[in-house]
Order: sequence, then C-alpha cells, then structure tokens
Amino acid sequence: LTMPIYNFSAGPAVMPKPVIEQIQRDLPNLNGSGMSILEISHRSSLFDTILAEAKQDLRDLMRIPDDYEILFFQGGGTGQFAAAPLNLATLHHAIALLDSGHWANRAGAEAAKLGVAVTTLASTQADHYTRLPHLPTTIPTESYDYLHLTVNNTIEGTTYHTIPQSSDLPLVADMSSNFLAQPYNVTDFDVIFAGAQKNLGPAGVTVVIIKKAIVKPVDHLPSMLDYHLFMTKNSLYNTPPVFAIYAAGLVLKWLKAQGGVAGIYQRNQEEAAKLYDFLDHSKLFYNPVHHADRSLTNIPFMTGDAQLDAEVVETAAQEGLMNLKGHRSVGGLRASFYNAMPMTGVDALVNFLHHFEQQR
Ligand code: PMP
Repeated sequence: LTMPIYNFSAGPAVMPKPVIEQIQRDLPNLNGSGMSILEISHRSSLFDTILAEAKQDLRDLMRIPDDYEILFFQGGGTGQFAAAPLNLATLHHAIALLDSGHWANRAGAEAAKLGVAVTTLASTQADHYTRLPHLPTTIPTESYDYLHLTVNNTIEGTTYHTIPQSSDLPLVADMSSNFLAQPYNVTDFDVIFAGAQKNLGPAGVTVVIIKKAIVKPVDHLPSMLDYHLFMTKNSLYNTPPVFAIYAAGLVLKWLKAQGGVAGIYQRNQEEAAKLYDFLDHSKLFYNPVHHADRSLTNIPFMTGDAQLDAEVVETAAQEGLMNLKGHRSVGGLRASFYNAMPMTGVDALVNFLHHFEQQR
C-alpha cells in the first residue's frame, strides 16, 4: 500500500490526475497520428484543433464575449508585468496600482523600469497585507492609462471577491493564482492575465484575455510582448509552447466535466472553509487574514513559533502532505488549494493538523 501524496505547492502546482493519465496515454501517439505532442509542428492540423478547442473551452468556461480575444504568450505573469505597460501605457505613460502585496509591487517595479510612472492609490503594507487596499473614493486628478490589480495575492493569501471598479480607469488584472477558481465577470476587466502553472496546467504558457477595442499597434515593441501582433496572428506569430497549451486544453475539458467554474467554485469554497474553520478554532494555529479578504486558493497559517512551524512542515511531508512551507516574507505554512486539489487532500491536511495539535 502506498501512501497518498498531496501537493500543496503554490506553483507549479497540482494538476488533475485524469489529465496526467491522459497525457501519459497520448504522449507516444497523439490521436493516432503516430507522433507525440512533443514533436508536432505548431502549424499542423493536429495543433490547429488543440489551439481552437482550448480557446473555445476557455471562452465557454469564463463566458468570454466576442469582443474579447484570448491570447497565449510565454514569459509568465512577469512577462505581462512588462507587456501591459508597453502596450497600454501609451497615452499618459502612467499607471495606478493598489498595493496588495509582493506581486503588485513586482508589477509596479517592472512598469517603472520601463519608464512608466507608477502611482500607488492605496496600500495595506502597514497591516502586513493581511487585508486588501481599496480604491479611494476620489482618484487623484492626474490621468493614468490603467489600474493594475492583483486579484489573488498568492503569498499573502488575500482575494478581491468583489472587483474594484472605476469608470475612469481601464482595469488590468493579474489573476495568476485564482484563474478559473471562482466566477468573475470578464466585462469588468480590460485585461486578465495568468501564468498557467497554478490553476491551468504546466508552466510555459500565459493566458491573456483582452478587450479587442483597447489593442492598438505600438511601435518599437519586442514581438514577443506585442498584443496587437499576437492578436492578428492568433498567438502563432512564432512557435508557441505547444505542450503547455495542449495540457492546459485537457485541464479545461476536465474543468467542464466538474461543472465548470460555478461547480469548482462550490467545491473550492467547501475546501477552504474546512481549513479556515479548523484554524479559527485552533489553539495552536492561526490565519492572519481579515475574513472578508481571505483567499480560496492560498491559505497561509502559522503557530507564531518559527521552529515549531518548520517541525509541522517536516512532519507533514513524512505523511505525504507536501510543500506546505510558507513564503519567506510571511513565514509559517501555506496550503494552496487549486482546482485540482481533491477534498480528500484537504481532509488529510486538516486531520493531520488536528492530531499535531492534540499531541502537543
Ligand atoms: N503574479 C502572481 C499573483 C503570482 O502568484 C506569480 C507567481 N507566483 C506571478 C505573478 C509571477 O508569475 P511568473 O512566475 O509566471 O512570472
């Protein structure tokens, strides 16, 4: 009997078992072609179908309207920290930011590096990012090309369950760590981007969902970051990450079979509630995040004693509960419950923590 292994990594992260098994079956021989997905051309009809189905399945799952385009880039979320200002900060050369934590800061720093002025409209740094900053009622009179928002803060464990809105500001949303985890209204955004390696598939592909009307040709852009170029070439200007798009496509089909985003959201809420409920009643562990802002996908928790936290991480790993070490900036532990985390994994974690607490 082998012990079940549950992977709570923040990313790259757990993928659905049936998808891994499908990849294993397909790997030597894709659709009876006698060739592997690892060796087919991105200009082949085999890949045409994979790309078209991935786009349509994502469109269905997120109810993406026709006036939005789906693009596939390389370069991760970090690539988009540069692509968004290069493509969109072309009028005022200025963007606004809600400082919700580490990844918001990274986005701001990348834009600043490219000569774009970055204004922080609100910050919760003083609260160690245990709650979310909100838009001030009056936004300073200077004009910005857009507002950058980190929808789910992977490290700090916070999520905007309600998206901040300002009629004056186009909205660019980093959804890297809760893409497809809960329903959002695509029309609330001008751009949504996400690296695949948390909730969508393996590392290597970055999804950009963008309102067509804001895409304009911009001179002097690197081709690999050019929204207009990728839109006119259907993400096939150059060789795309063929395997990563194929694998993400399988995850999208799996997600449809789970009842889509609404179905998985229901389960994600149940899973997160189990751990939060345990933490809120525990005398040993706690979660530091303001209740209204708690993430469904990334849950930091700790004992307050760094040495004991390390012991919990190590003991958990011996029991098959992997990758629970918290990010160094927050400390303690962090459990990531992406869509592919089964309820049995959450139950195993909560039982383990309960026994650990009892035995002290
Ligand atoms: N934004 C968020 C919210 C993230 O969690 C991450 C990765 N952890 C990034 C951006 C950076 O993504 P990448 O590693 O794909 O560049």
